Amino acid sequence: MVHLVYKCLMCGTCCHEIPGDYKKRIPLYPEEVDKLIEMAEKLGVEFKVIEDLVFPDIKNEKILILTYRIRLENDTHGCPFYIKNKGCTVHNAKPLACQAYPLALKRIDAFNFEITIDPLCNYVIDNYNELKNLDLEKLKKIFKDEYPKAENFFRKNKNLMFEIRKLEVTKKIEIPREISLDAYNLYLANWDRDEIRV
Ligand code: SF4
Ligand code: SF4
Repeated sequence: MVHLVYKCLMCGTCCHEIPGDYKKRIPLYPEEVDKLIEMAEKLGVEFKVIEDLVFPDIKNEKILILTYRIRLENDTHGCPFYIKNKGCTVHNAKPLACQAYPLALKRIDAFNFEITIDPLCNYVIDNYNELKNLDLEKLKKIFKDEYPKAENFFRKNKNLMFEIRKLEVTKKIEIPREISLDAYNLYLANWDRDEIRV
């Protein structure tokens, strides 16, 4: 029987790059970027983002941006809002992905995601045997504060995907289901950007 209750170890691993091939992604919605830009100005922090989840719209020749990700610092390989011995300094503007962590969204196909546990969290690593085959009810109990936040994160993502589908059905945009890497890179290099906000 599982009696675990999640408690963050405050190790800071989730705010930093993990050594090895895995590329850290801390996804941000465009409105979260706006909030963090304000916070960065107040705190005097250098904050930059990179485009993350994007779709090419071949009808309007635009790159549609759904999410960005935080550009990690060169020296610490961490989020610029993380301070050693203090942790995250933007609690009031913490992105949904950080609020939900170590629960995360796993992409199952181009337009669909599911809630999952991130195996790179140190708490998850320490309790891997108990956590690996959890059913939903146990997951909700163990991550009782994080699960509702993961649901918010999931809903937000779903609404974005729904918006994209709606724009497609109403023929306002056209997203190719198959595209060569060369064509994709050419679009990325030449087309203007449009953010999708819901
Ligand atoms: S916003 Fe806060 S919790 Fe999220 S990665 Fe940065 S320091 Fe960590
Ligand atoms: S990796 Fe896991 S245990 Fe460590 S700070 Fe992040 S959420 Fe907490």
